[in-house]
Amino acid sequence: MTNQTLNLSDELYRYLCSVSLREPEVLQKLRQETASQPMSQMQVAPEQGQLMALLVQLMGAKRTLEIGVFTGYSALAVALALPEDGQIIACDVSEEYTAIAQRYWQQAGVAHKIDLRLAPALDTLDQLLVDGYSGSFDFAFIDADKSNYDHYYERSLQLVRVGGLIAIDNVLWSGRVADAHTQDNRTRKIQALNQKIHQDSRVTPSLVPIADGLTLALKR
Ligand code: CA
Repeated sequence: MTNQTLNLSDELYRYLCSVSLREPEVLQKLRQETASQPMSQMQVAPEQGQLMALLVQLMGAKRTLEIGVFTGYSALAVALALPEDGQIIACDVSEEYTAIAQRYWQQAGVAHKIDLRLAPALDTLDQLLVDGYSGSFDFAFIDADKSNYDHYYERSLQLVRVGGLIAIDNVLWSGRVADAHTQDNRTRKIQALNQKIHQDSRVTPSLVPIADGLTLALKR
């Protein structure tokens, strides 16, 4: 027994998945297709997709933001958990990867819930703010370029309602965030945001050590 978070061995991770994972077939197929892509490590882990789907259901979320789509796994996991009239505004710049995403969203019958905006995410988020969408989203998932993480967090804080949730991916960054002397720019950006959220009285945070680290920040 331990009260520290376990460092999962491969064996224990396989066990976790074997007794907990309920991955729909369409998500399994998307994961398999994405595994052949050069950037496949950008896809969220299946147990993380399942956690996000649970959170969205728990909150009764209807409107969500996805900042960084890649091949659409997390958006699909969330879309499957949203009600029929739910909506995701999904931001990405890659036509190539989101073409894969759209194919699977259609296969799963949830394409009508996902409004893909092919543009720099900051432009899309700023336009939503101009258009009066402040405080209108239940949930936001931040998983795009790390250099803009702080900007995505600040925009999401404005766009999410009080009691809404912001989830931020890769906050443990393969363990590199623990190096206080790193000169790597992306690592430093993630470190800075982690420290900021720790002190940020606008949210109630929890850093969940699932996959590459997922911060949950509840807007107060
Ligand atoms: Ca990620």
